[in-house]
Amino acid sequence: MKVGLRVSMQPVEFVPRTRESETMSGLREELDSLDVTLLIEYGVAEADREKALGVYERFKNNPVAVRLLHDYYADLPEAREEMAVDLRIVAEKQGSTLAVLQTPSHAYLYLVADDQALFVEEFDKGVTDQTLLHHFDFNSVEDFRTKIGSDPEELPPLSGEDSASQEVCVSCGVKPGEYHILGCPVEQCPWCEAQLNHCNCRFDQLGVGSIDDEEQLDRFEDLLEAKGRIAFKAEDNPSYPTAGEDPPPF
Ligand SMILES: [Zn+2]
Ligand SMILES: [Zn+2]
Repeated sequence: MKVGLRVSMQPVEFVPRTRESETMSGLREELDSLDVTLLIEYGVAEADREKALGVYERFKNNPVAVRLLHDYYADLPEAREEMAVDLRIVAEKQGSTLAVLQTPSHAYLYLVADDQALFVEEFDKGVTDQTLLHHFDFNSVEDFRTKIGSDPEELPPLSGEDSASQEVCVSCGVKPGEYHILGCPVEQCPWCEAQLNHCNCRFDQLGVGSIDDEEQLDRFEDLLEAKGRIAFKAEDNPSYPTAGEDPPPF
């Protein structure tokens, strides 16, 4: 059994605001999916190979799962000893997923966001990063442990389906009831009800002529939350596929 796996990995740097274009991430998904089988062929011991490929088969239509398996097998020379046997969901928010990857003897927490899977911590240790806890609405590591429990087997499995085929915001990928990723052109302004990234309310609210730094953006986000952001509803999606860059039809 291995201990101290991935001690060399850097702490998670979590920046939930950007997202690659759909075309690029589509291409990336195809390459990743091709890679996973190759990584398994070359990385997993022969005795486990068929089983590892079977796990991949179960999840191959879910881009989040593919990304997670890809980065797990790509980053770990030790994967030879420990194939991934299951993937489960801890929390999902605004297109990012906190997941558990189980091997025969370990369980690891991963963050999958912005087409990247980042190792967070061993599941036993829980999430300690404040930004990450806050993003997924946990108050503390204790709160995380109370809500999530200590047995990964009790968590819901990651779906075998592409969650992107559900109704999600065409531009930023959030699900109905969730807030858009700030800057998403589909988000409606709670002050004037126009497109939030086109109206002038951000300048009016901040009392500035232009927004030049992250601090102003953070301050605007606070004002926006205090006012009450308008969550995504499936019917907010413009009905044509190239939507997102164009003004929505209201
Ligand atoms: Zn959106
Ligand atoms: Zn406005």
